[in-house]
Amino acid sequence: MTRCHDVLGIGFGPANLALAIALEEEGHDLDVHFLESRPGPSWQSAMMLDGSDIQNHPVRDLVSLRNPRSRYSFINYLFENGRLLEHLNVPMEFPLRKDYARYVTWAAGHFSRLVDYGVQVTGVAVDVDAEGRRIYTVTTSTGDTHQARALVIGTGRAPFIPEPFDEVDSPRVFHLTRYLPALQQLEELGVAGEGEKSPRAVTVIGGSQSAVELTLDLARRFPRAKVTTLVRSLTLRQKDTSPFSEEGYFPDFTDYYYRASRERKDDIDTFMRLTNYSSADGDVLRELYRLIYEQRLDGDQKVFVSGSRQVREIKVLEDGVHLGVEELNTGESEEHQADFVVLATGFRDLGPAAHQERVPALMRGIADDFSFDSHGYLAVGPDYEVQPLGADTPALFLNGLCESSHGIGDAGSFSLLSLRAKVIAESLRKRLP
Ligand SMILES: Cc1cc2nc3c(=O)[nH]c(=O)nc-3n(C[C@H](O)[C@H](O)[C@H](O)COP(=O)(O)OP(=O)(O)OC[C@H]3O[C@@H](n4cnc5c(N)ncnc54)[C@H](O)[C@@H]3O)c2cc1C
Repeated sequence: MTRCHDVLGIGFGPANLALAIALEEEGHDLDVHFLESRPGPSWQSAMMLDGSDIQNHPVRDLVSLRNPRSRYSFINYLFENGRLLEHLNVPMEFPLRKDYARYVTWAAGHFSRLVDYGVQVTGVAVDVDAEGRRIYTVTTSTGDTHQARALVIGTGRAPFIPEPFDEVDSPRVFHLTRYLPALQQLEELGVAGEGEKSPRAVTVIGGSQSAVELTLDLARRFPRAKVTTLVRSLTLRQKDTSPFSEEGYFPDFTDYYYRASRERKDDIDTFMRLTNYSSADGDVLRELYRLIYEQRLDGDQKVFVSGSRQVREIKVLEDGVHLGVEELNTGESEEHQADFVVLATGFRDLGPAAHQERVPALMRGIADDFSFDSHGYLAVGPDYEVQPLGADTPALFLNGLCESSHGIGDAGSFSLLSLRAKVIAESLRKRLP
């Protein structure tokens, strides 16, 4: 017989890991279990690029804003691994992404007893148990079913693949969330390797931090290849790092945003956008600009950034990917050819627009059990519980997917993750007496 957990967490990335820690540290004795599709603990492993750093202040980790004395802090990870002093001496403003990924893996390792790895959740349904209570039944890629009185979906956001790339199914065109495994696959196919097997041309689409990191990584990895970055806006932009704008990542701002009307939320989003999206940190922009300048000085430019460019057409043929590109200000058409194309095109937020998703993929089968506001947004409470239509619908929380209701601090980042975990943990306790 399937055991019915109090809480089932789907995904065990930083968001649900922070929740597991909060539940342990805040002394909740709920029966909690997590299902994670990856084979083991990891963080953004497909983008573990040499030299890349993290974007959050390292103290905004899995726990410290909630409990600065927690043993699961980044500082304690460094301490327990004998690297604290050495780390503090590294001449970098932010830690290496590799170091932070090891921190997440180290913290997750303490909770292995609560997690089934290598298990992808494929469906969620509402059922009735033997006592007549409504519960969730979750089906998985391994053919098993799990039951729970409450669900916490912490699956991270779905990649956004815009037109015309959404119609292409080829290993030569892929989103950044598959970057390193996709390069491995291309090497096996003989499309991208080292030396003689180097690709001739590669295209990156997008103007984000990841787009710039990818451009630099591709230029280092394949020094013979032409690397072109196509950006829809005028050119690459620097992030808004004003400390005043950064207050958008304070918990008070989350409450403030939550209470604003949809129209005001849209205005706030426009202002806050450049703190996180379609922009990159100054260090990588400077590195890229210097690289291009030096290549031009040597009369051997290999890396190009082309702004105001929109890809209108794509064809994947035997010899590579052919792109039909419009220069948005002149209306001129260009032809680009690449051995492969990397999409740094962002992620889907919740909402009714074409680039958003109405509900997270796993909620599609049960969406009719929940409320939407008059603008078509899924109604989520301040405690991240999705608002049910009926009183007997079991509790369902979203952990890390609520930027459209809670603002930029919920843009899937580390910034407020530990405090959000506390809110969800307390609400679960109330909902599951
Ligand atoms: C390249 C890159 C770098 C980033 N760097 C930073 C940074 O430096 N600082 C920062 O604050 N933010 C950064 N981010 C944002 C990132 O979203 C957060 O750091 C963090 O990963 C969010 O945690 P999460 O748990 O919400 O989502 P995720 O990290 O995406 O974790 C979700 C987990 O759910 C699992 N999952 C998904 N679907 C299923 C399913 N159906 N069944 C079972 N398991 C499933 C996934 O395998 C994954 O492990 C970065 C994002 C990217 C893409």
